[in-house]
Amino acid sequence: MVSIKDVRKSFGALEVLKGVSLDVMKGEVICIIGPSGSGKSTLIRCVNALNDIQGGSIRVEGQEVNDPDLDKLELRKKVGMVFQQYNLFPHKTALENIMMAPLLVLKEDKTDVEKLARSLIKKVRLEGKEDSYPGELSGGQQQRVAIARSLAMSPDVMLFDEVTAALDPETVNEVLLTIKELAQDGMTCILVTHEMAFAREVADHIYFTDRGVIVEHGTPASFFDEAKDPRTIEFLGQIL
Ligand code: ATP
Ligand code: MG
Repeated sequence: MVSIKDVRKSFGALEVLKGVSLDVMKGEVICIIGPSGSGKSTLIRCVNALNDIQGGSIRVEGQEVNDPDLDKLELRKKVGMVFQQYNLFPHKTALENIMMAPLLVLKEDKTDVEKLARSLIKKVRLEGKEDSYPGELSGGQQQRVAIARSLAMSPDVMLFDEVTAALDPETVNEVLLTIKELAQDGMTCILVTHEMAFAREVADHIYFTDRGVIVEHGTPASFFDEAKDPRTIEFLGQIL
């Protein structure tokens, strides 16, 4: 589904990804963890071509993301992304936020789009909030609208970049539950997260990045209980 091979990425003279490889199969959930500045966001932004790469290859369903002829819109229909900052349109209701991309980008029929948006509201457990504006919703509720908005494009894979990092502790779990249910429905997910209990429960594979390389990866059981790399062990020691 997503195949990342020996990816190199620099910002000017700063090499941020120094040969990163990982594969994600259809329906798998992988979590990327690692210290601040290790290149986690940079890596997942490469997957939907928000960043270009200087070496290696990234394929999404066989399509090379780094191909200059790539239709980025086509790619972004396949690859949804949710960020720490949910950036909803403040003057649009929850339902309207979810409907915007299918209406404006895909030019789909309004009745169909509204039906889809209502079903997505249900999926992220926000029934009754259809007509609320972002300012009337909690951070966790807004983030779930942002997830629904991304799902409205029917992506094949979802990228999540620390989507709970800016939330109040009491709303973190409802967002994690939404992601967990998506994963259980078979959505392919790549998550950057610091939620270790969540990663342990939901991930098929965990990757640990440090200074632009993957220094350790494994199943949650092997990763958390049998990490061998000293930087991973130190990081887990600080965070667990
Ligand atoms: P955090 O956990 O803090 O989110 P991260 O692992 O996601 O960290 P990145 O955001 O990928 O780290 O950043 C990796 C490195 O790349 C950092 O040194 C950062 O300063 C640099 N960097 C990221 N984006 C840019 C940019 N657009 N221009 C220049 N440097 C950048
Ligand atoms: Mg980041």
